[in-house]
Amino acid sequence: MTRFETHNDTLQAAPTNLQGKIALVTGASSGLGARFAKLLAHQGARVVCAARRKDRLEGVVSEIVAAGGQAMAVAMDVEDEASVKSGFQAAVDGFGVPSIIIANAGINNQGLALDVPIEAFDQVMAVNVRGVFITAVEGARLLMNAGAAQSGDGRIVLIASMAGLRPLPGLTAYSVSKAAVVMMAKSLAREWARSGINVNAICPGYIETEINADWLNSSGGEKMLAGFPRRRVMNEDALDGALTWLVSDGGKFTTGSVIQVDDGQGL
Ligand code: NAP
Repeated sequence: MTRFETHNDTLQAAPTNLQGKIALVTGASSGLGARFAKLLAHQGARVVCAARRKDRLEGVVSEIVAAGGQAMAVAMDVEDEASVKSGFQAAVDGFGVPSIIIANAGINNQGLALDVPIEAFDQVMAVNVRGVFITAVEGARLLMNAGAAQSGDGRIVLIASMAGLRPLPGLTAYSVSKAAVVMMAKSLAREWARSGINVNAICPGYIETEINADWLNSSGGEKMLAGFPRRRVMNEDALDGALTWLVSDGGKFTTGSVIQVDDGQGL
């Protein structure tokens, strides 16, 4: 029988220590992305925080550094391929080629299909689909050139949503974009399997952030929450376990997977 690598019959858990790793997180200026950046830095990675609002990124970097971690801020607009390329180049110049890439930047657009201007639909696709694709491709290109096929340590995580798995009312553009991200993770995982890069998607349920605070605090949002099995949003640490596992050695054999972390909200 051919095995992936030498058989290891000791009961030793794969380490989750990310010392020596370099990570890049898009949308790190707020919400989930800021949390991911702090989490990865806490685990020892040097973290490149990317987004458009440089002042907000600097705040996240300061928090990481104050806690003893290493991080840098790079301006990046994922709608603009040149900006993504120059952001990655700044990351390489500052820390080196990131082996962990979290394509998290995303926007929402609420409204019934008949009312949503087509420009708003295009905008959601430009950030949530095209932007995630550009980020993943640029990260993978650098990783392949840096020898990921030999090291096998490339980890790309795309942040989708439970909206990509089930329709949410008034969120057609967003749901369609996140369903595309789910398929993107599977397609890229297959394409890059022999290039040493794992690609997975996380589909979170609701966590209160800037993207949804107004909706969650509206009467419609409260009604929605009351319909969830546990009648609550998730805490900000809800995705820590899934993200840690996917980027660590323990996630070595997980690629093309869609990890739903939604507290049962999608049931
Ligand atoms: P958020 O606080 O609004 O964060 C969105 C982030 O995306 C911001 O850092 C924003 O930074 C960045 N961004 C937006 N457009 C960008 C662009 N063109 N280029 C670069 N960065 C851009 O919302 P969040 O909840 O943390 O959302 C993060 C991701 O999780 C999104 O993909 C969202 O769809 C997904 N998600 C969230 C939830 C939830 O309940 N919170 C659930 C499921 C999925 P700048 O404005 O500084 O560029």
